[in-house]
Amino acid sequence: MLKRKMKLIPIALIASLAFSLPVYAKPHPSDSAFDNKIVKRIKVDNIYDTIDYLSQEPRVAGTKAEHDAAKYLEKQFKSYGYDTELQSFEFTSYKAPDYMSLSVSGMEDVDWDLGNFSYGVSGQASGELVYVGLGRESDLEDVDLTGKIALVKRGEISFGEKVLNAARAGAEAVLLFNNASGVINGTLGEPNDDYVPALALTRDQGEELLALLEAGETLIADVEIEGSEMKESTSYNVIATKKPDKKKSTGQIVIVGAHHDSVAGAPGANDDASGTATVLELARVMSNMPIDTELRFVTFGAEENGLLGSYAYVDSLSEEEIENTVGMFQMDMVGSRDAGKLIMYTVDGEKNIVTDLGAAAGSRLSETVNYGREGRSDHVPFAEAGIPAALFIHAPVEPWYHSPEDTIDKISKDKLQEVAEIVGAAVYQIARPDTPALENAKVAPKKVEYEYEERELE
Ligand SMILES: [Zn+2]
Repeated sequence: MLKRKMKLIPIALIASLAFSLPVYAKPHPSDSAFDNKIVKRIKVDNIYDTIDYLSQEPRVAGTKAEHDAAKYLEKQFKSYGYDTELQSFEFTSYKAPDYMSLSVSGMEDVDWDLGNFSYGVSGQASGELVYVGLGRESDLEDVDLTGKIALVKRGEISFGEKVLNAARAGAEAVLLFNNASGVINGTLGEPNDDYVPALALTRDQGEELLALLEAGETLIADVEIEGSEMKESTSYNVIATKKPDKKKSTGQIVIVGAHHDSVAGAPGANDDASGTATVLELARVMSNMPIDTELRFVTFGAEENGLLGSYAYVDSLSEEEIENTVGMFQMDMVGSRDAGKLIMYTVDGEKNIVTDLGAAAGSRLSETVNYGREGRSDHVPFAEAGIPAALFIHAPVEPWYHSPEDTIDKISKDKLQEVAEIVGAAVYQIARPDTPALENAKVAPKKVEYEYEERELE
């Protein structure tokens, strides 16, 4: 799952939805029989073992580890009889510095607590330290920082704006101190050629410098940052396709997805080896089933860099393929023992064919699955292309996602089993030959009541 950049404003609950009570539809016997074809074939140990294999090390997009994971997944899909493609795409990634240092005249003994800003530049600078408040344009009017180093306080405007404002005023480098405790772990937001080297300081150390400046002292600072750079990298989507018999085909496509990349430093057992391994197992389960709908199992790269893989994949689809795709099921973080309950998120917070099918399968197999509104995973590019899509995830997510603690020992087989059954049964309800074609996804699976939930992911 993608890290949240901004706090979303919760949308108002629609009253009519809030007070509807769940009604448990009695499963149609034939639906149950078809569900069993899926459920009985799912081997949760396969999912668990794949997570274990993938989470030996982080799978950061553009690294050898991600490429290895993608090649492994392609090999597995192939072994189940799928047509496969390793779809590559280029992207720009940021490499953090290997070395940062600061020294200030008269304070040679201080052990500085330095932080870096993502997209910050390398460089070396030396000059007199000048305090420029919050570093807004108004703080820098008529201020000439040529040959100087700006001391800036966090707050009000973005880190990137502060660095650019100081650079425009001539600053050689920027020291940006926190307005709360701790080291800033920030980002400048995007690459920019106009940045000057910038280091983050703690509030205490920044205020110490400020006090000395206000007492009239002249401080000369030396700043050095080495090894940060923008890099062109290649990431991969793994695409496994199974076409139905030409005679039986409805011409429709269903996509089941997850992302195989992880963030730096995180083994990504739950985020999102769990979804990836479940995609793989569902592909295995459905490999020999009769279908009338084209199945595409896709694992995306560079999700954590901004859904880059799923955007690249959707970009590669023809208009006709988009038109024919009746549903996209995304599974992201579906196995943590410490996360909340299963929920289906759509980008617009409205029900669609994917949530209808998921809710119906849930009520037949375990319990009603509700829906909510959230982006932040690979269902977003599909929804933007007009394809009904939903994210299956446990909410709230476990507190240690995106950390070294996201390891196999915290994976629950019960949670994996439940999601695999529900998504598998929902997908098979479309794909199996006895159900009529979903004309542009306007099918009605047996009506099941399920509700909107204002459930936060974290
Ligand atoms: Zn994530």
